[in-house]
Amino acid sequence: MQQSSCEAQKNQAQDFLCPTNEYNDIRKVIAVLSGKGGVGKSMVTSLLSVMMRRKGFKVGILDADITGPSIPKMFGINGRAGGNENGLFPKSSHNDIKVMSVNLLLDQADAPVIWRGPLIANTVKQFWTDVLWGDLDYLFIDMPPGTGDIPLTVFQSIPLDGIIIVTSPQDLVSLIVKKAYNMAKAMNIPILGLVENMSYIQCPDCGKQIEVFGKSNLDDIAREMGLDVLARLPIDPQISFLSDQGEIEKYSTQHLDTCINKIENQLEGVESK
Ligand code: ADP
Repeated sequence: MQQSSCEAQKNQAQDFLCPTNEYNDIRKVIAVLSGKGGVGKSMVTSLLSVMMRRKGFKVGILDADITGPSIPKMFGINGRAGGNENGLFPKSSHNDIKVMSVNLLLDQADAPVIWRGPLIANTVKQFWTDVLWGDLDYLFIDMPPGTGDIPLTVFQSIPLDGIIIVTSPQDLVSLIVKKAYNMAKAMNIPILGLVENMSYIQCPDCGKQIEVFGKSNLDDIAREMGLDVLARLPIDPQISFLSDQGEIEKYSTQHLDTCINKIENQLEGVESK
């Protein structure tokens, strides 16, 4: 029987999947993406990882945001990653979250990465194939921003179990969510839901929530696409303070509880790819 073009596309997408290192046992892989930089994708990746770790899970973060890597700094991780003939060692945070980032491979962490797309995509793939992650319950991937070529290659080469889309109210939310949605559909990867970052600020005196970027239309878009809004995070000076200090693991929030529960519940019992 002839395959529909959609089925053919799905099968083709699976053909590019790379196996991880033979020494790794990684149970669930979750990609966090956004339409553009600066909306808080790395922040959400870090906070989800911190919360999962607090629940006792073994967690790693693959920093695929090669041109704007910020994960090591948020966790206060410095220096170069080592390795042996079997692969590269990730570095561990204060609370033992394993991290691999291009920043941990450069001579100077502040050196710019001026690489072309294929090299960037290849580096991300190697973070999957050549890093000795060991035994992990969850590996979060801080994706390169956007829905272009590089994220697409990452989608095709790493077997993802779920995707979380981070937006902010001033983002071109509708377009971004639709692009990410179509990309995930074509690859047959479930979208776990949407997280809106920098949704509002909360007045420290009266508790009123002020929507600095105006009213968000995320709920309408989510309804239209059949997706869940899993969290709305306020602009919180404590977040930027702690991440600048390399102490993001000290941050505590209940805003991401639904998101964490959804990850656990939806992926529980799902056979890994
Ligand atoms: P992206 O990964 O989307 O480029 P980041 O996660 O690096 O964005 O966030 C960009 C900046 O905004 C960082 O300096 C971060 O500390 C800050 N930031 C992100 N989310 C919040 C928030 N909810 N409240 C305060 N500052 C935030």
